[in-house]
Amino acid sequence: MGMSPKRLVVVGGVAGGASAAARARRLCENCQIIIFERGPHVSFANCGLPYFVGGEIAEQDELLVQTPGSLKTRFNLDVRVNTEVLSIDRQARRVKVRESSGREYEEHYDALVLSTGASPLKPPIPGIDRQNHFTVRNIPDVEKIMNWSRGCERCRAVVVGGGYIGLEMAEQLRHRNFRVTVVEALPQVMAPLDPEMAAWLHAELRANNVDLHLNDPVAAFEAPTAAEPARASIVVLKSGRRLPADSVILGLGVKPEVGLAKNAGLEIGQRGGIRVNEHLQTNDPRIWAVGDAIEVRDVVTGQWSLIPLAGPANRQGRIVADNIFGRPRRYDGTLGTAILRLFKLSAGCTGANEKCLQKAGRAYHALHLHPNSHAGYYPGAEPIALKILFAPDTGRLLGAQAVGRDGVDKRIDVLATALKAGMTMNDLAELELAYAPPYGSAKDPVNLAGMAAQNVLAGDVRLAHWHELPVGDAVLLDVRRADERAQSFIPGSVHIPLDQLRFRLNELPRDKEIIVHCLSGQRSYYACRVLSQYGFRCRNLTGSYRTWQAVKS
Ligand code: FAD
Repeated sequence: MGMSPKRLVVVGGVAGGASAAARARRLCENCQIIIFERGPHVSFANCGLPYFVGGEIAEQDELLVQTPGSLKTRFNLDVRVNTEVLSIDRQARRVKVRESSGREYEEHYDALVLSTGASPLKPPIPGIDRQNHFTVRNIPDVEKIMNWSRGCERCRAVVVGGGYIGLEMAEQLRHRNFRVTVVEALPQVMAPLDPEMAAWLHAELRANNVDLHLNDPVAAFEAPTAAEPARASIVVLKSGRRLPADSVILGLGVKPEVGLAKNAGLEIGQRGGIRVNEHLQTNDPRIWAVGDAIEVRDVVTGQWSLIPLAGPANRQGRIVADNIFGRPRRYDGTLGTAILRLFKLSAGCTGANEKCLQKAGRAYHALHLHPNSHAGYYPGAEPIALKILFAPDTGRLLGAQAVGRDGVDKRIDVLATALKAGMTMNDLAELELAYAPPYGSAKDPVNLAGMAAQNVLAGDVRLAHWHELPVGDAVLLDVRRADERAQSFIPGSVHIPLDQLRFRLNELPRDKEIIVHCLSGQRSYYACRVLSQYGFRCRNLTGSYRTWQAVKS
């Protein structure tokens, strides 16, 4: 906007705010840049908080990426911690602030950046504020958890909410050998994943002795009755189940902190975040906003969304400073690329999932694969459960999810890059990716996904899906080897190993659809090619036995 502000004021000194201020300094050496932060710390590692609780990050100081002193020394930023911005007078271009001592004063701005973040949700469940109930947003929050947990041997923690903060906390509390229960209102944890992908996480939680209650919201937090063990709380679920807890971790999601913006008359969107344009500017041309507090465009669906993640907040901070200092730059929306480590599993996703494509009324194909993380003949290869969503007309990638013990992060990052670039399934099939046996395969999982999708787009194979089972009138054909079948099989299936198929076609009906499966969907694809060329009606069960089993267990 061609303005050269003399004084930039930033509200919120963590991910988005600190990024904006530091970048601003690099663009304007003689501006005054003030950061107001309500809490006692700036630029701390919120994403590291669970690992501090679990002891993987040993020292609290390691969470402090910067301090007011270091920001002053390196960037000449005027950082004022323990100072809350109370209101914005847009006419006079002044903010009113209050220090923790109670002293109030005003400060003028030429440009104002709001990076106020999002606060943990606390729905009005009876007893939610009982003692030893904790949220996890900042260092004071985890200090409270540490104080509680220091005095505890084999304590019982109930984590309410199976989002990534709840799951990271569950993992880290298990790491400290606490007894951990996770309670989730929905039938699955990790809402950004589709249910059959989240199912792997359920199994991993249970395998690590986390007690998991799905589809069962908390009705109340109560004091124990005389007949119950003397714990801090009893977590009462809608089903009537009563879970004794020495502490409760509330991981119920977050809501954008927009009070300041709202009271100043800035536009708030339907999703409850600050509404900004593609330059991250609010409806007041002197005020910009970034991070968890704003609504962003979901790149795939085009809809306004709340996607509270650190990557977008940090990048927006940089973009906003560029815009303020006369270098127009657009923020083109958020893909929601995210990853979680849960014990030995990693789960990552990017772009739209099947649930949101359905909600948005978008046509898509869904494909499941279980390729190895690297060449199967090299030790240590682990299968990756990979789900790809793509457009039937253009073949463009719409979203991807991956769960596995190895190689998940790299595939999700490649797919996120492909999504950002608007790549199609042909592009994925043709990506030239680094390969040697310890790292990947000559056909990388991402290539394989592209190739399998090409087969669908070319009409070479039609897909059936785990949620269509049992198959009703159709025949479910298992083409695995006899020894695989002997271990376990999908009820109602008939068995003809792939290598015998051509000689046993007369055992299959021509008037019914045949749904073929193997272990992962690859051999059943070969089978489908045989069957359809002999005139059978056939679909390949995508993801095959592995996906079915993940959902079933
Ligand atoms: P924040 O970083 O939350 O900063 C907002 C700051 O504004 C707060 O410190 C607040 O005190 C201050 N503030 C608010 N109102 C006022 C006011 N009126 N006056 C003064 N100050 C004010 N994201 C990932 O991508 N990956 C992860 O692994 C990950 N892990 C996370 C783990 C945890 C436990 C948490 C809590 C978050 C995690 N996140 C993760 C999310 C990530 O931390 C946020 O998306 C990111 O910090 C958002 O940046 P922000 O600047 O918008 O808000």
